[in-house]
Amino acid sequence: MDKVAAKREIERLTNEIDQHNQRYYNQNSPIVSDKEYDHLLSRLISLEKEFPVLKKNDSPSHRVGIKISQGAPAVKHRAKMFSLDNTYSIGELTDWFKRLHKGLPGEKIEFVAELKIDGVSASLTYEKGQMVLGATRGDGTVGEDVTYALKTIRTVPLKLCRDKEPVPDLLEIRGEVFMPLADFRLLNEARSCKGEQVFANPRNATSGSIKLLDSRVTAKRNLQCFIHSFGMSERGRNWQSQWDFILRAKDLGFNINPHYRLCLTFEDVIAYCQESQERRHDIPYEVDGVVVKVNNFKQQERLGATLKSPRWAIAYKFPAQQATTVVSNIVVQVGRTGVLTPVAELEPVECAGVTISRATLHNFDEVKRLGIKQGDTVLLQRAGDVIPKVIKVVTKSDKKSKPFKAPKRCPVCGGDIAKDRDDQVALHCINPSCSKQLERRLIHFASRGAMDIESLGEAVVLQLIKKGMVKDIADIYALGKEDLLKLELFKEKKVNRLLKAIEESKKQPLSRLLFGLGIENIGEKAAAVLAKKYENLQALQRAEVVDLEKIRDVGKVMADSIVKFFQQAGTEKLIDKIQRAGVNMIEPVEIEGVKLLDKKFVFTGELSGLSRSQASGLVKMHGGEILATVSKKTDYVVLGRNPGSKYAKAKRLGVRVLTLKEFQEMIYE
Ligand SMILES: [Zn+2]
Repeated sequence: MDKVAAKREIERLTNEIDQHNQRYYNQNSPIVSDKEYDHLLSRLISLEKEFPVLKKNDSPSHRVGIKISQGAPAVKHRAKMFSLDNTYSIGELTDWFKRLHKGLPGEKIEFVAELKIDGVSASLTYEKGQMVLGATRGDGTVGEDVTYALKTIRTVPLKLCRDKEPVPDLLEIRGEVFMPLADFRLLNEARSCKGEQVFANPRNATSGSIKLLDSRVTAKRNLQCFIHSFGMSERGRNWQSQWDFILRAKDLGFNINPHYRLCLTFEDVIAYCQESQERRHDIPYEVDGVVVKVNNFKQQERLGATLKSPRWAIAYKFPAQQATTVVSNIVVQVGRTGVLTPVAELEPVECAGVTISRATLHNFDEVKRLGIKQGDTVLLQRAGDVIPKVIKVVTKSDKKSKPFKAPKRCPVCGGDIAKDRDDQVALHCINPSCSKQLERRLIHFASRGAMDIESLGEAVVLQLIKKGMVKDIADIYALGKEDLLKLELFKEKKVNRLLKAIEESKKQPLSRLLFGLGIENIGEKAAAVLAKKYENLQALQRAEVVDLEKIRDVGKVMADSIVKFFQQAGTEKLIDKIQRAGVNMIEPVEIEGVKLLDKKFVFTGELSGLSRSQASGLVKMHGGEILATVSKKTDYVVLGRNPGSKYAKAKRLGVRVLTLKEFQEMIYE
């Protein structure tokens, strides 16, 4: 190809890719598959390699990122990037409103309200419509030049659209860069699998991703950006108010949050704050409040700014995710390892979008520290996906309820209890045939992450124990047809199904067996790590603490638990019994990338947080395939919110349906 033809082809490809990007993000209606998109992009990249002089500043090939050798240089902002004052209640917000009226006596004030996204502020500079600089906020006056990283974000336009709106000669615009919650979870899961430190929250993950020296990695993190204000512009600026700016910014090709609202009165602002607070958990990214701005720029100018923040804008922060309720009872639970855990039963209360009726009190020292008693009113807190926690007692019950005392015997079997030697806090039921422990162990053994014996649920386990059919885990492999027919509601068909599921479970890899054994402190991930390292159970049995604790992701506590488990009276006999039943004790060597080999997937509905392209990327990365329609050839249909007719079809054809969570578990287990 000669240079002229190459130039024409590069232009054609650039245009086409830009259009696909627009459709993908701003109209949410892609017309090409990711594969076709990648194909266009790689064709462009190879042409630019062949003719480097033809590579433009705004070429979509910048989306893939590059590696640089030095950290981001400092860059002075053309206009100061203020931070906003915070308010923490509607009352404080109203005080701000009153201050505005003192500054603008007798004037009507309109507002623009938007969600406050918990991300990283960024400034984008465009010269003659081309992106020339991307910077972090820094201290507001000087930030860091992170142009390469920000160019990888597909919602950041590399060149502005001139179709509807004149493009200013120089435009400096601000937005929030963030990582959607689903991507944040995927990233952390992947990091934790690799033994890397996880990010504490999406904001840290975003900030870390922007500052990477290798923006090719940034490009894979699916960061997004919403534009919310502008810093300065020269010539061609067309907007007179914040609302006007938002509409026109959209026409210029910027990504605008769909939850913007023009509020004609302050009452509308309050309503917006309350609505947003209620639905904050339905939003696929972290939102921690609302930002309110005076709409009219002339009014903004007259109100001015303090040293730190503008007077015409303010943040309303949502209250922490806490709730108060009454303790209706304190009970003691017996876990599968015999550990006794005090649990507060609560009068049901809404907190962070879910109803809470129980909260763990962790251990008996914690109960003492809190001084918690039945009838007390307590403050609960929920953070992210974590189990609710009792923070403190707010008001003591006026009834004379007795202080809660740690039990002297196991509340289930009445057996002796003892303090664990290593841990002076936890109490254990030491009766090895305690029925509650056995029940928990069996349920755990059969659970999905472990041996995955469908239809061996709680109700069946309870019956099996009650009828004396099982005395340990291994006994389930000795169950026969006649035994199971004695169970309530068990007819031929159900019995056969259960027997088949039990038989199938014998093929599970060592990692699942190891997790299923319920060794203290050994979760799914640790079990997988150990199985991969030792490959068979006998080898693990021989391992010593010094070997185990050296393994990444294992450490001293787990190493001790493993050795202790294998030394325990009864373990050897149990394992022998399981082995004689024909249960697999080997970890198959996994070939990277073939988890979903040849499996065919169809997606339907809105996959909260996860984009379609990411979802299909995951499938392909693991050897699977994406189909457009559901047929008998489909292996799985993954269900998002508001699924379409594909769901009905999947049900009709008996195709296995997965929730998004199940799909993710499939890949990351
Ligand atoms: Zn017990």
